Amino acid sequence: MDESLKLPPAHERVGPINARLAPLYPEFEGLNYETPLQLLVAVILSAQCTDARVNQITPALFARFPSARDFAECDIKELERLVKPSGFYKNKAKNIRACCVEIVNRFGGDVPGALDALVTLPGVGRKTANVVLGHAFETPGITVDTHVGRLSRRLGLTRHRDPVKVELALAEIVPRAEWLHFSGRLIMHGRKVCLSRKPRCEACAIADLCPKIGVKGLAAKRKRSKRQVSPQRHKDRTKGHEEEVN
Ligand code: SF4
Repeated sequence: MDESLKLPPAHERVGPINARLAPLYPEFEGLNYETPLQLLVAVILSAQCTDARVNQITPALFARFPSARDFAECDIKELERLVKPSGFYKNKAKNIRACCVEIVNRFGGDVPGALDALVTLPGVGRKTANVVLGHAFETPGITVDTHVGRLSRRLGLTRHRDPVKVELALAEIVPRAEWLHFSGRLIMHGRKVCLSRKPRCEACAIADLCPKIGVKGLAAKRKRSKRQVSPQRHKDRTKGHEEEVN
C-alpha cells in the first residue's frame, strides 16, 4: 500500500510541518536591506540570481543611489554597470529605474505598502510584492517562488503549478500569522534539503509527514537518463531534448 495514503490531509499536516521546520530555520537567510526601497530593488535583482550575489552588489548600489529619486534620475548605463553581476542586467536596470520613476511620480518617493499598488509598478509581480509586504511592512503574505511551489506540491499541500493558485491554497491552510515564516521556511528547506533534482529525503526532518509526490518519478528519470547517456544518445539529447524537471 502507498505510504502517502496513510497520511492525514494537508490541513492537518501543515501545522506539524511548520513546527518541525521552525527550529531548523530560525532566521531567514536572505537579502540584506534597511528600507522598503532597498528591499524592493534587491528582490528585483534576485531574479535568476542568488541572494549572496545580490548582497555583494547592493552596498555600493544603495550608497550611490540612496533614494527612489536618485534611481529615477540615474544614468541607465551607470545603473547597468552596477547591477551587471546579477545577470539580465539591462532588463533589471530598466525595471528598477522605471519602477522608481513611478514611485516618485505616483507615491511621493515612498514604496507603497499595499499589494494592489505594488503590483502596478514595472517589474513588480505578486511574488516580489509579497516579499516586500511581508518583510518591510510586516503585512503577512505568502511568497511563492520556485522552492515554495515545488515543496508545496511534493508535500501534497496543493496540486497547482500556478503560483497565485499555490498562494491561495496555502493561505487556506496556514494561519495568517505564519504566512511569512512558513514560506521562508519552505524556501530554506528547498535550498538545503528538498533540492529540485535530488531531494535528500533520507535526511529530511519532515519525511514522515511528506507523501513525496513526484519524487519517485524523479529518481526513475535520473536513473533512466544516466543509462541513456551513450555517445549516440548524448548526441541526440544535446540536439534539444534536455529533460526538464521542475
Ligand atoms: S521528504 Fe523528500 S520530498 Fe518530502 S520535503 Fe523532505 S526532501 Fe522534500
